[in-house]
Amino acid sequence: MEITSEELHSRLKKYFGFDSFKGDQEAIIQNLLQGKDAFVLMPTGGGKSLCYQLPALITEGTAIVVSPLIALMKNQVDAIRGFLEERTGVAHFLNSSLNKQQLIEVKEALLSGKTKLLYVAPESLTKDDNIQLLKQVKISFYAIDEAHCISEWGHDFRPEYRRIQVLIQEIGKAPIVALTATATPKVQSDIQKNLGMMDAIVFKSSFNRSNLYYEVRPKQNIDKEIIKFIKTHPGKSGIIYCLSRKKVEEVAELLSVNDIRALPYHAGLDSATRSDNQDKFLMEEVEVIVATIAFGMGIDKPDVRYVIHYDIPKSLEGYYQETGRAGRDGGEGQCITFYRYKDIQKLEKFMQGKPVSEQEIGKQLLLETVAYAETNVCRRKVLLHYFGEEFLEPNCHNCDNCLYPKKQFDGQEQLCIVLETVEAVKEQFKAEHVANIISGLSNSIIKSYNHHLLDLFGIGKDKSPHFWTAIIRQALIHKMLDKNIENYGLLILTDKGREFILEPEPMMLMEDREFTDEDDDSIIGGALKGGGGGDEELLAMLKDLRRDIAKKLKLPAFVIFQDPSLEDMSIQYPITLNELKNCQGVGEGKAKKYGKEFLSLIAKYVEENEIERPQDMVVKSVINKSGNKVYIIQSIDRQLQFEDIAEAKGMQMDELLNEIEAITNSGTRLNIDYYLEQALDEDKLEEIFDYFRNEATSESIEEALEALGSDFTEEEVRLVRIKFLAELGN
Ligand code: ADP
Ligand code: MG
Ligand code: ZN
Repeated sequence: MEITSEELHSRLKKYFGFDSFKGDQEAIIQNLLQGKDAFVLMPTGGGKSLCYQLPALITEGTAIVVSPLIALMKNQVDAIRGFLEERTGVAHFLNSSLNKQQLIEVKEALLSGKTKLLYVAPESLTKDDNIQLLKQVKISFYAIDEAHCISEWGHDFRPEYRRIQVLIQEIGKAPIVALTATATPKVQSDIQKNLGMMDAIVFKSSFNRSNLYYEVRPKQNIDKEIIKFIKTHPGKSGIIYCLSRKKVEEVAELLSVNDIRALPYHAGLDSATRSDNQDKFLMEEVEVIVATIAFGMGIDKPDVRYVIHYDIPKSLEGYYQETGRAGRDGGEGQCITFYRYKDIQKLEKFMQGKPVSEQEIGKQLLLETVAYAETNVCRRKVLLHYFGEEFLEPNCHNCDNCLYPKKQFDGQEQLCIVLETVEAVKEQFKAEHVANIISGLSNSIIKSYNHHLLDLFGIGKDKSPHFWTAIIRQALIHKMLDKNIENYGLLILTDKGREFILEPEPMMLMEDREFTDEDDDSIIGGALKGGGGGDEELLAMLKDLRRDIAKKLKLPAFVIFQDPSLEDMSIQYPITLNELKNCQGVGEGKAKKYGKEFLSLIAKYVEENEIERPQDMVVKSVINKSGNKVYIIQSIDRQLQFEDIAEAKGMQMDELLNEIEAITNSGTRLNIDYYLEQALDEDKLEEIFDYFRNEATSESIEEALEALGSDFTEEEVRLVRIKFLAELGN
């Protein structure tokens, strides 16, 4: 049908109250009204719904909207009923949540021609009853929302979506509009093929969110980094995404004990708690929500100022969706991701047991994520390239790589090597394989194809496969290589790439970043990592002080504070008792008993040297996070046998002693006399105790065993040392 732009605008105003169309909306609607198929790629929040809602109200007949989520469906129908002043019931939905009576009402409305918009879940569409019903209805057009569900390469594959085209044939032909926020070329081609709409007009909006700042940080000291980040952005709303429910709970708790108003959100919480927490976030009663990806679907808080990824997401689609929840009002939005390669391996492990084809896809998507995380190229460029869009400016001024650029080098020669190798393996292999060949890394696959016999094999052996995959990625970004759409991941040469081989020219490239795999989960549980990184001068002073105090009290120095505690003080600069307690191995008892002099020394040192204390960064740990510790403390209070405690927790005796030692060292005073009395005779006990009291120069068990002689077992010495440290140290 023909409709003027003026008329369309007046309908927009009348039905929805908007004065103008966003982006391509008008063109998309006009296209549909002319009876042509359309394929709409628009980022989340771009306004896809209106592209089918408005024409549905204008045209004759009923528009069928296929949408995957029952919950969202109801929202949409409510929303459109809310928009329309005369609530004549023009929108309905058909899914498994309806009861018999509701179903009858929907059927009547449909057959009477009142329904302009019918939302259907794909699994309801496949039901024969429904097909028979819809056959009797005049269909104006079909809208396939969240169309990426058709593709196994999308982030939310649903097999029922694959049958849509067959069902449409059966119900009756009408124009189709497919809509999605996932725009990778692979997904796009899957959708068009599956819906038989290769000739559809493609409307693609830019996926660039220029107000979002992208940064990837190595996953080290993550808890501190996050707390510091939040504290330097007070009063602003943020979301922290974690992959597991357990992590969500832990992080939310960690933030809370550090005086940050934060709540968890994940599918394991009951729905009342969930919606309560969500409301508190929307109403700004809390500033941070810690969530699994379950959070964010359908919620629309415009002023989220940061999105932090505690764990790297499974795919760049997910990453883009989640980061996209920042800065929806066009204002500031910081997207910080913490990355270490180990997390990728974890994700790969989770995939085990799934069908092989699914694993293969999952692995490829993960590789794209790794590429993004490790790149030194503009992140916006990489991200948009992934969505099939070119970002032409050399510098986006709003990502870590653009703001803090790395040195570049002329990669002309390296590019040629890569392109020639892709040619030599006849464009039949993926990046990993090509990089291995160039580095000269032989494996069974390479041998089975005789690729170790290629002239190019090992031509770049002075560099790692990691280096060469970085070059391959940049060749992709510069459009000298492309990824095969049919067999995703196989590298193929573009015309530009072939030309480059014949006529190479200087080309500035970047090496990837190296991410170390240092583990830092140890902060939770009170064990801040000692060893290095502290203020050497202060550390020496602290050790002197410890020696003096030990002399005065006639105690071995290690009883006062052990080395890791002093090292931690030289990092944290505590000047109050509370701060001191946050240092490794310093419990309440120790802090009170010995802390004072250390605190005044540190305070003086800080003042004299004008040191900026990392106070905002001091992370209070979630005490006794491990259930074992709590259990052990309670059991010893109840004077249970160590053997029984160990058995109850499935531990060996020496593992139990490790735990007890850790508990004692961090300042919790355990009385184990009841056990010692029966475990070893009094003389022995006294002898060991005296050794530690008067002879020992360190807490070493080995030294003790040597000094005490062969009558004593390691276990006995350890038990008495626990008593000794508990009594004198705490
Ligand atoms: P998408 O499905 O693309 O994520 P929605 O269809 O849910 O986006 O729309 C996002 C928001 O934009 C909604 O709040 C919607 O009311 C609003 N919106 C859509 N079109 C317009 C318009 N032309 N003018 C103003 N707001 C609009
Ligand atoms: Mg939508
Ligand atoms: Zn950039």
